Amino acid sequence: MAAEIKPGPGLNDRFNTPKKPVLVSKLEGFSDDVNAALLIPGEDAVITASDDRTVRIWLRRDTGQYWPSVCHYMPSAATALFFSKGSRRLFVGQDSGVVSEFLVAEDRNRISHSKDYQAHTGRVTAVLLAESCQWLLSVARDKMFKLHCAQSGLCLGHFVSEAWCTAVAIDSLAKMIFVGDYAGHISTLKVDEAAAQSSIGNTGGVVSGVIRYVTNLKGHAGSVRALTWDSQNKFLYSGSFDQQVFCWDIGGQCGTAYELNGHQNKITAICYAPERRMLISGGEDSVVVFWDMKQSRLETPPWAESDMCQRCSRPFFWNLRAMMDQRQLGLRQHHCRSCGQAVCDKCSAPRHAIPSMGFEFDVRVCEPCYAQLKSAQQQSQTVFHEAKHVIVAMDVDEPQKRLLTVGQDHIVKIWDISAAMQ
Ligand SMILES: [Zn+2]
Ligand SMILES: [Zn+2]
Repeated sequence: MAAEIKPGPGLNDRFNTPKKPVLVSKLEGFSDDVNAALLIPGEDAVITASDDRTVRIWLRRDTGQYWPSVCHYMPSAATALFFSKGSRRLFVGQDSGVVSEFLVAEDRNRISHSKDYQAHTGRVTAVLLAESCQWLLSVARDKMFKLHCAQSGLCLGHFVSEAWCTAVAIDSLAKMIFVGDYAGHISTLKVDEAAAQSSIGNTGGVVSGVIRYVTNLKGHAGSVRALTWDSQNKFLYSGSFDQQVFCWDIGGQCGTAYELNGHQNKITAICYAPERRMLISGGEDSVVVFWDMKQSRLETPPWAESDMCQRCSRPFFWNLRAMMDQRQLGLRQHHCRSCGQAVCDKCSAPRHAIPSMGFEFDVRVCEPCYAQLKSAQQQSQTVFHEAKHVIVAMDVDEPQKRLLTVGQDHIVKIWDISAAMQ
């Protein structure tokens, strides 16, 4: 029986959801690219870093509009941000490779410079303070990951990657550090705590050897752009130019990794709301996707190797012998995304979304899998939203249910995501 091919949901249907985020405000007036922006949790305040060299703090006024209360000019382009609300310490990565630390006034109307970390010789791409251990982590286009003591300012160690470093995350409990790079690798590093501790009082200069290379998480076929650590479930999330989000089950220790396929262009930002267990991804397709991580997902199956179709037994084109014997033309090999079988085009004609495997778009499946998927009628819980600008960075404030998207259009948008978070 010929498979019935149901037209997949059009893009417009996908965005037609009652859970739509609502645009609350827009921050404008940048004369160059905005590289990073943060929501100060629980406050109507935003910090931005731009290629126009400004670091600005924006406060929401009575009119509902955001206006800068601070506009500080850096010596070079401001490329990365981290703010610790408790200690009011603000870290700014720069194009020059320097990471500058500021203290933000309680009323958010002033920032004062406290120190500089001569961390890198290339554009800083991410900076992060691990508060429990007072470690400042930074990565840059000089292919380096640097670990500094955020008390003494001393460099505790470094790691050299094969490509530009693009993202960093830390499991503060296990002292594991994840460094993403432009080649698609995620290097896993372990900090030798005893060595790091003993070097804190040391004023003698650079200490090396506290960082140990553990492994490389392989999977992405494009530059890693964002990394986020979920400390509760011990998952590492990575977003990549290969349009995929990978969920690495580090805590499970079985090498399991799930894929989330919901974008049709490069993923540039991911953030995580731990209470709601929601992962939010954004990309160059101008789309924000809200993934419910409470939903259980299956690993995608490995692709089978075969020299003939595993359904109709017709040979694939390199199987010359069977082609001669059966007097058949060789066929191209395809794979069913649901069961992983090697099949010909005819035996894998249907297309169906597989939300349980993170495939939110229609993908190639074989006929038995299609019948199964169709009868199961699995409802996708994933929310898609058109942000109407090409996203370069994002941040979420879960208690206030606010999402921030930074666009290539030099605009920062603030969204009310109450409905999406329900
Ligand atoms: Zn076949
Ligand atoms: Zn199948």
